[in-house]
Amino acid sequence: MQLPREVIVGKGTLPRVKEVVQRLSIRGPALIIAGVKSCEIAGKQVRDLLEQTGMNVDTLLVETATIRDVLMVEERIKAWHPRVLFAVGGGTKIDAAKLSSARQDIPFISVPTTVSHDGIASPLASVKGFDKPYSVMAQAPLAIIADTDVIAQAPWRSVISGCGDVIAKFTAVKDWRLAHVEKNEYYGEYAASLALMSAKLVIKNAELVKPGNDEGLRVLLEALISCGVAMSIAGSSRPCSGSEHLFSHALDMVNCPHGMHGEQCGVGAVLTAYLYGANWRRIRDALKRIGAPTTACELGVKDEDVVKALEMAATVRPERYTILHKLNLNREACEKAARITGVIG
Ligand SMILES: [Zn+2]
Repeated sequence: MQLPREVIVGKGTLPRVKEVVQRLSIRGPALIIAGVKSCEIAGKQVRDLLEQTGMNVDTLLVETATIRDVLMVEERIKAWHPRVLFAVGGGTKIDAAKLSSARQDIPFISVPTTVSHDGIASPLASVKGFDKPYSVMAQAPLAIIADTDVIAQAPWRSVISGCGDVIAKFTAVKDWRLAHVEKNEYYGEYAASLALMSAKLVIKNAELVKPGNDEGLRVLLEALISCGVAMSIAGSSRPCSGSEHLFSHALDMVNCPHGMHGEQCGVGAVLTAYLYGANWRRIRDALKRIGAPTTACELGVKDEDVVKALEMAATVRPERYTILHKLNLNREACEKAARITGVIG
């Protein structure tokens, strides 16, 4: 099990990157992976701070997370021999850094500039170009430095997406338990509880999640990091990704270009909570309080695409047993679920 050794969350924490590298005794060159925007917002500052400690620092700009990007980062690692990789940015930069550093056997440090999903602390990377649309095992970050002053500059929608991704753990954990009971799959109570607690905390503090409120951002960040840790403990994405994630992956396939991951997972959780006969209204109401989409229209997708995605979701990942695999719903049943939960009109 790999867990982060340092987690620093809060206002104005970016300069603490210096003490983190010193405490972790990282000597030698560092490579920063960032996007054009995240480089301006935080990457340049991270570089200055590291150089002040006497480190040699190189920056590589990455805009997407495809296999080509991962290979490009790996080439730079081979040429430059950094002792550590810093990922400064949102999901794609962190994913590219996570997988390339794992493959080249060097640690990576996560410096998120958005909070749109739980990948900022998880050991899994979502990289395009593989034959599967879901994430693959890479490595957990050695440290996470999340400065809420930096994150507050990201579009508000990314915060909403992050909340959706956390709230989606309600159904993810249900699916994991179901797979344990019916398919004898390994189930870790501790990892499951950690993911569930994160979802409960975000729902409980929903009123804090509003623009300009640092406390709300901190609650969300801690929840996302706990979800990452839950996946590290479980050794898979099971505690954090179930039927609602399969729905989101399927929606990406039928509706391209697609919406934000966490927004789609939130709507997916409403649908699959209904299929469980669970309290789907509670999930829907929590999403509404945060201002997250709860309907196809708010997601910006067609009603028929929601139905299509729900119907094909189980086929995205046949080996990951969920309520969708158990029920094996036809088009009509999917449409009924979407209509009753108000996801489609
Ligand atoms: Zn997710």
